[in-house]
Amino acid sequence: MNLLLGRTYTDKKNYSKAIPYLEYTIKNEPNNSWRKVWASAYLGTCYFMQQDYENSSKATKECIDLNVTKNATNYAYSRLLLFGFDDFYKNWKIVDSENFRFHFQNMSDSEIKNYISIREKAFQDINKFFNSRLPKKIDFFVWDSRDDAKEILKANLGFAKPEFCVVHSYSRQTVGHEMTHVISNYTAEISNKTRFINEGTSVYFDQSNQDRLKQVKDWKAKNNTQIGIKDCWLNGEKYSEEILYPLACVFTKELIDNFGKDKFLEFFKNQTYENAKIVFGDKLDRLIEKTDNEINN
Ligand SMILES: [Zn+2]
Repeated sequence: MNLLLGRTYTDKKNYSKAIPYLEYTIKNEPNNSWRKVWASAYLGTCYFMQQDYENSSKATKECIDLNVTKNATNYAYSRLLLFGFDDFYKNWKIVDSENFRFHFQNMSDSEIKNYISIREKAFQDINKFFNSRLPKKIDFFVWDSRDDAKEILKANLGFAKPEFCVVHSYSRQTVGHEMTHVISNYTAEISNKTRFINEGTSVYFDQSNQDRLKQVKDWKAKNNTQIGIKDCWLNGEKYSEEILYPLACVFTKELIDNFGKDKFLEFFKNQTYENAKIVFGDKLDRLIEKTDNEINN
């Protein structure tokens, strides 16, 4: 019962309420109990979200060390890597700023200073739009080697895990993309994300000032094909980053320019085409048609 409550509160992101139930389970269960290891694993997440990194690391490692069930051990091990507690990170430089806790694999102190001030400014600029209150600082990992990241995290850089306010990025990535995934996640309760809108938004706010319309047109010319916004929206997973990102950005910009920030944010909570029809009305299809024409001409 205590584990169930602890788990339920963790899933509901009510971490301070979850902790006593999880601690109770850990204290009262024997070392070979599956309940105990799962409680430790969840406790690691709760403490992480409270920025109590020491206890988060301790609980996560305890779950792994007890090694009772494979699922719990794997769960805790993936957190150990994601949260930066693995021994691989032991020589990384950790630097706190107002909105971030940076982790640098390999960067000089003068570069770090500059890197941080650029990202703090970007955070402020992006959050002027979203007005989000994040539950914690963003743990922002700056990898110097994509190969290391691939080996350790089994994933390609960069990516964000908004639910934990974690970003793993490559040192030469755009300033705003990954942080926008985190910031935008807390603008409201988001019930439904789509790849098209979610990525389009992060590309739009990536602060890189690239000509995305030109990228779409170049891609079209190279691949000798037509492309449609609606299909890309409905079937986002089918499309490569190379075309989906710039196309989605072009359309996200149209949504914001035509309907304004408040309407866009209202829609952003449920990013489906169906919900867009409800929020934006008949003008939506006209805007899709207009943008499709612009792209395909
Ligand atoms: Zn992205």
